[in-house]
Amino acid sequence: MKTSTLEKHSVKSNICTHLLPTATAGSLPKPSWLAEPEALWSPWKLQGQELIDGKHDALRVSLQEQQHAGIDIVSDGEQTRQHFVTTFIEHLTGVDFENRKTVKIRDRYDASVPTVVGPVSRPKSVFVEDAKILRQQTDKPIKWALPGPMTMIDTLFDEHYKSREKLAWEFAKILNQEAKELQAVGVDIIQFDEPAFNVFFDEVNEWGIACLERAIQGLECETAVHICYGYGIQANTDWKKTLGSQWRQYEETFPKLQKSNIDIISLECHNSHVPIELLELIRGKKVMVGAIDVATNNIETPEEVANTLRAALKYVDADKLYPCTNCGMAPLSRDVAKGKLNALRAGAEIVRRELLENT
Ligand SMILES: [Zn+2]
Repeated sequence: MKTSTLEKHSVKSNICTHLLPTATAGSLPKPSWLAEPEALWSPWKLQGQELIDGKHDALRVSLQEQQHAGIDIVSDGEQTRQHFVTTFIEHLTGVDFENRKTVKIRDRYDASVPTVVGPVSRPKSVFVEDAKILRQQTDKPIKWALPGPMTMIDTLFDEHYKSREKLAWEFAKILNQEAKELQAVGVDIIQFDEPAFNVFFDEVNEWGIACLERAIQGLECETAVHICYGYGIQANTDWKKTLGSQWRQYEETFPKLQKSNIDIISLECHNSHVPIELLELIRGKKVMVGAIDVATNNIETPEEVANTLRAALKYVDADKLYPCTNCGMAPLSRDVAKGKLNALRAGAEIVRRELLENT
């Protein structure tokens, strides 16, 4: 049973039958009966079995909304997690959530984070049951997001390893175990979220990409890395103001990423100050082109989405371009997120038609 699911969905070179398959970078808003809307780290409103059932119901609703909007590569909308990094870490041993320290996350904002107090390990799978439920609900290709090793270490205080690199290698091994189990239940694309790649360039090039490659070691499904300028929260908006008129952060890491074994690179492209020609540095890779700004409630027009995709097509081959959102949409209202998903699909359709007319 497992094998047939895998064969059916994991066609590595051709995950979708048509050009420009759409996807989202990750999270989608949660229903207000599950968690406080329009917030990050929002506390759950249910408990015990009700919470477990509620998360799975929300997963089904989120999937239905993506399918209704015509999104081609669907996800769980991260309905079962409170936060894209900490929920994964909560399932590991060696991390003390009572013993919290304030650290500067991504060199940018203070956050109270748990402490690594001993060797880290994953006693059991974290998201595999959730992924099975998603797999049972849809025949579309599914993508599952995990935090990347570097972003994980940046969301913790380490009292045990006392080395960012050592801890990142340990997390890479743990992520690899989880990824292999996700692949076995039929996940088509496993994505690692590494916003830290836009901040710690030297570490990225010295060991960050190597750790990421350790996390995908032996996988046969598609693999992706999502690098972005973050959710539309104030700390990120303030940080963006300090970056100047041209955001060239990607330039630092693209040459090494281009040579890496990662299949897909997911990037923020719309309304950002990233010079689009930087995409030339990763030519040959598949690119999830962020054509939806998640830092504003303004819903893009299909033509705006199309413009971003057309600009990216100068540097990304058409068969390697996946229209996507810049980042997760968890902090947005459900209506705004739905509007943005529809705009993404409609914009991709415009460009798909143009490509077909020109062949
Ligand atoms: Zn992001």
